[in-house]
Amino acid sequence: MKVIDLINNNKTGKPLFTFELLPPVKGHSIEKLYKSIDPLIEFDPAYINITYHQSEMMEVVQSDGSLANRLVRKRPGTVAIAAALQNKYNIPVVSHLICGGTNKDETEDTLIDLNFLGVDNILALRGDSKRSAEFIPEKNGYSNASELVEQIVNMNAGKYLTKDIFDMLKTDFSIGVAGYPEVHKEAVDMKSDLEFLKMKVDKGADYIVTQMFFDNKYYFDFVKACREVGITVPIIPGIKPISAMNDINLLEPTFKIHLPEELVAEVKKCKTNREARAVGVEWCIKQSKELAAAGVPGLHYYTLGMSRNIKRIAKEVF
Ligand code: FAD
Repeated sequence: MKVIDLINNNKTGKPLFTFELLPPVKGHSIEKLYKSIDPLIEFDPAYINITYHQSEMMEVVQSDGSLANRLVRKRPGTVAIAAALQNKYNIPVVSHLICGGTNKDETEDTLIDLNFLGVDNILALRGDSKRSAEFIPEKNGYSNASELVEQIVNMNAGKYLTKDIFDMLKTDFSIGVAGYPEVHKEAVDMKSDLEFLKMKVDKGADYIVTQMFFDNKYYFDFVKACREVGITVPIIPGIKPISAMNDINLLEPTFKIHLPEELVAEVKKCKTNREARAVGVEWCIKQSKELAAAGVPGLHYYTLGMSRNIKRIAKEVF
């Protein structure tokens, strides 16, 4: 089942409950993911997202004991995990796919693998550069997510990069893209960011999932601004509960977002991460209830593997 159909066919009067997971770190078992998902199944998730991670520079120990920098794919396995989760839980899985670290031909092969495995939901993203502050595309790769959307749309029309083969299978992917209520960190301003977002939608994206935000006003203003520039597709809010005391130092610079003063003040009073998590859960419940009351199409939670927090929130909201 495609995400866009799940959204359009939802007649429950409640937003869809969905969440995002990261693949396990290389060398760890998929069981860890199952342990994160199992406690959330009772809330009837409409679909599950699995993130995609390109190689990054890491210090690795050489055979002679010395250290050297090497490109390592720390969290491989997105495509295989997407298929494994779909088979185990019989719930649609959205496989994230990025431009970073890969070229067009490799992307085409990944899309073919996803099609063979029956995974027909993709979140098309650019990814961040792992080697410099600025995003540098691979040779014969893409510079932005709208180019990736175009490739997927072309495959849905039976148009592949290899043009000399006839009767090519038309894939049937539903495509989601990312949107930024507080403006993407590299964007010149909201106006240009919205123009590029509209380009992704005009090229064929079915829906938008937002970057995390902690003040719902950013989401409501963003949806209004999107509608004003002619973006009509569903916009799913992506939210994350604060899960550690240090989140108040890390999240703002990492994602170029703002944390409300009231939330920061509450977290600052905490003496342990456990206390900070409790504050985060309460805040996220409040956020979720307000968004649900406003009629959002879904509530998408960034779990970072911490399903206990999400379970407490889901109990109150769904
Ligand atoms: P784009 O839409 O390409 O935009 C990137 C920047 O370029 C923006 O500033 C935009 O304004 C600008 N831009 C866009 N098009 C053009 C153009 N034609 N010309 C000039 N400028 C342009 N990262 C991962 O590595 N793996 C994941 O699994 C992952 N999942 C994510 C899920 C969600 C819901 C979100 C919100 C983000 C996720 N990310 C993930 C992070 C994402 O890859 C980064 O935020 C990245 O910096 C931008 O990706 P994008 O798809 O929004 O890029």
